[in-house]
Amino acid sequence: LFGLMQDRPLLISSLIEHAARFHPKAEIVSRLPEGGMHRTDWAGIRSEACKVANALKKLGVQQSERVGTLAWNSYRHLALYFGVSGSGAVLHTVNPRLFPEQIEYIVNHAEDQVMFFDTSFAPLVEKLASKFKTVKAYVCMCTREAMPQIDVPNLHCWDDLIGGQSDAFTWPEFDERTASSLCYTSGTTGNPKGVLYSHRSTMLHTLMELAPDTFGVSSRETVMLIVPMFHANAWGTPYAAAMVGCRLVLPGPHLDGQSVYTLMRDEKVTFSQGVPTVWLMLFQYLDANPDIDPKKLGIQRVGIGGAAVPRAMLERFENQFGAEVTQGWGMTETSPIGVISKLLPKHDGMDAEELVKVKLKQGRGVWGVDLKIVDDAGKVQPWDGEAFGHLRVRGPWIASGYFKGEGGSPIDEEGYFSTGDVATIDPDGFLQLVDRAKDVIKSGGEWISSIDVENATMSHPGVAEAAVIGLPHPKWQERPLLVVVKRPGAEVDRQSVLDHLGQRIVKWWLPDDVVFVDSLPHTATGKLLKTQLRQQFKDYQLP
Ligand code: ADP
Repeated sequence: LFGLMQDRPLLISSLIEHAARFHPKAEIVSRLPEGGMHRTDWAGIRSEACKVANALKKLGVQQSERVGTLAWNSYRHLALYFGVSGSGAVLHTVNPRLFPEQIEYIVNHAEDQVMFFDTSFAPLVEKLASKFKTVKAYVCMCTREAMPQIDVPNLHCWDDLIGGQSDAFTWPEFDERTASSLCYTSGTTGNPKGVLYSHRSTMLHTLMELAPDTFGVSSRETVMLIVPMFHANAWGTPYAAAMVGCRLVLPGPHLDGQSVYTLMRDEKVTFSQGVPTVWLMLFQYLDANPDIDPKKLGIQRVGIGGAAVPRAMLERFENQFGAEVTQGWGMTETSPIGVISKLLPKHDGMDAEELVKVKLKQGRGVWGVDLKIVDDAGKVQPWDGEAFGHLRVRGPWIASGYFKGEGGSPIDEEGYFSTGDVATIDPDGFLQLVDRAKDVIKSGGEWISSIDVENATMSHPGVAEAAVIGLPHPKWQERPLLVVVKRPGAEVDRQSVLDHLGQRIVKWWLPDDVVFVDSLPHTATGKLLKTQLRQQFKDYQLP
């Protein structure tokens, strides 16, 4: 017996229609890549999205064909989010920080038909255009005056192409399982793999992003979108913002500490999400400008994910900004919400030190995401907060495979996706990430969490950044080497770091040696690139 409720498909076009109808005047503020500020509202974004849909029709883009973007966060990119997916095509947000060879690979792999790009990427597009096999048209996302002089076939200017279209468009209705957007993982090993989201997965994920026990975005908020729109759909926040019609601030390419600070201050941002690296840049700016009182910013909540939140970061946001930190764990393959750290009633009145430990865990499962941890043999491990296991997840917004079947099936016999992360889960369901499976250090048959050692190191006042890698050891199989970047002007030596760690981690986790470097290698999304670090120190002799 089927229920008798209306079977309306969950489609992304409904988001922009809702935002424009119920929150037409909520402002969308962009700092443009070509310079200057731009202000529009949700009604304006809807009109622009409809024009995009009409332009795609004119360019001959068919349903489910891919449309690429090489772009920062701006109102034009936002219009593409709704215009491309809403019209039934697939928005392929290309990460411009990848190596040119990787960009060439993924654009050809995705078979992008049109490429939209910001002026900042004009030289890149000019260099790669002859190698893109399927791109029939290029659109530079700028005004006529800002058009770059480049030699690219079938090149259009946004203002001419999009500006010349009608803003009347009837969104098509189709199966909600239809592909909506495509995002490639950065691929620290092997070729990048495409994660293909659907309208249904996106809409369900968006609903969960609004829940008070996750990021709880509401119409009363001014959200600054720091996570790039080419990184897992900016964590789904553009869709969530439309669903509630909140005010949105888009910083363009300007993610340095000063720009982020000024935008936060001038636009009175109340909520923002980002990876730890961008917050470190903001902190560095504030360190250099001690007269600024971050409490005056009025930012109420900060969402952090993509890498573990260092304790010092949590405390600085709470104490100096008066902001609540919500940590999340996820990955491109999980849309990305996997677990979110929100306290339970039982934590009220808990001892401060104990509470910090809970807050630094990555978070608890949300409805829709089933979790399990298993050992090397696939045996399920207990939720006792002690047992380490490979993390597997299942749910309606978790990938079931990669575009065109690349990399084989990541799914086990129970339908769970193997994340490549190692975690513990405590009896309350709080997940704590121990490591990437490939980064965990195996010493004498036991696992050392590089994340824990790194976090403990980062709480040393003289340390700016730290990474731990396992080096081969004749007796223990592997032992940790700690690589540290000092804070400018700080007096730190090997012994002071080891003394600091001695009070914070178990003895057998203590690194066998500490080396100081000027900088650490990072991936295109700002994460530590441990493969490169291991390569760099492969001949290093531990004492
Ligand atoms: P990529 O896989 O290309 O690095 P993702 O953004 O998909 O890009 O990264 C997902 C990975 O980032 C996770 O598998 C996990 O290792 C790490 N990660 C995400 N959130 C956290 C977090 N809160 N704490 C620690 N690690 C995290």
